[in-house]
Amino acid sequence: MDPNDPGVRDTPKRVLKAMAEMTAGRQDDPAKILSTTFEKHAYDQMVVLRGIEFVSLCEHHMLPFTGRAVVAYVPTDRVVGLSKLARLVDCYARRFQIQERLTQQIADALTTHLKPRGAGVVVAASHSCMCARGVRKPGAEMVTSYLTGVLRDKPEARAELMAFLGGT
Ligand SMILES: [Zn+2]
Repeated sequence: MDPNDPGVRDTPKRVLKAMAEMTAGRQDDPAKILSTTFEKHAYDQMVVLRGIEFVSLCEHHMLPFTGRAVVAYVPTDRVVGLSKLARLVDCYARRFQIQERLTQQIADALTTHLKPRGAGVVVAASHSCMCARGVRKPGAEMVTSYLTGVLRDKPEARAELMAFLGGT
């Protein structure tokens, strides 16, 4: 690659700009994202948002990993708007990450800020660093889950969540 070629002259600038955009989640405040809540009225059952697509960057190779997340919680007295759950995923995905930490951070933020009876996050993603290099296994997916409260401890709540995972 000739660095003076007009086509690539601005590539370093473009790479920096792309990296800044893909790690902009650090500037989002999870407390603020989850601050708009509503009284749950009589609803005390599980809320699940599934099929939340995301792109993150693996901190080991700075290559993207892409996938879908399921975010679930069982409310105590407040529920949060569905779009906020998607924004919460982006807040933690748009930074240098490992999938295990991404999964846990989303669940921990829900637990801290919504104080639900239980929270559950399941993430399935394929990693460019494994698909395009290394063992080169395109199509291999890594699945991680992190459960708290009743979703961890009550078998029937856990089974109900697992039944929703068909769309993952
Ligand atoms: Zn990697």
